[in-house]
Amino acid sequence: MTYPKYLEEVISSLELLPGIGHKSAIRMAFQLLDMSDGNLEKMGESLKALPQAKTFCERCHSLSTENICPICNDSSRDHSLICVVSNYKDVYSIEKMNTFNGVYHVLGGDIRINKGIMPQDLNIASLLERINENTIEVIIATTPSIEGETTALYLNKELKIYPIKITRIGYGVPMGIQLDYLDGLTMNKAFENRKEVQDMED
Ligand SMILES: [Zn+2]
Repeated sequence: MTYPKYLEEVISSLELLPGIGHKSAIRMAFQLLDMSDGNLEKMGESLKALPQAKTFCERCHSLSTENICPICNDSSRDHSLICVVSNYKDVYSIEKMNTFNGVYHVLGGDIRINKGIMPQDLNIASLLERINENTIEVIIATTPSIEGETTALYLNKELKIYPIKITRIGYGVPMGIQLDYLDGLTMNKAFENRKEVQDMED
């Protein structure tokens, strides 16, 4: 027996989510059907608004409803310290620990040569443009994965012509983990254990 077409459409939309297989999508679609009309409409509206609402800070490329995000605009933060992360969600993971008082730069992913994601597809040029005589340190906090390491190596190569300190957050953090799965303590340690990466290529 086939599902009604409107339900099939919901199922195939849900299957687009990473980690959601066909069976889970069917289960979720039925859960949605059981929801009240009002809640369904509210959910639909917020999803529909996402493409327009998803805007980024012009400076650091974090999610921001303003041209310049509240962190970049905050003069009490240490703008000489730039933490480079792979994804905008990582900013939230680091902010959660409440100890990092620098600013961010979101690359928009990691270098994945096999998937055609090259350095020029990431926000690397704008990072280099941000570095000036006030910059003291760039902390590379890309994803702890092969791709994140590749990206870190590339960044180090690009950054080392500048008279700044380049550090990589200390892993302790297991490879392959997403930053948002780290608890505050582990993340804190990763920052405390950050090491200079001048000799990363050796
Ligand atoms: Zn910003």
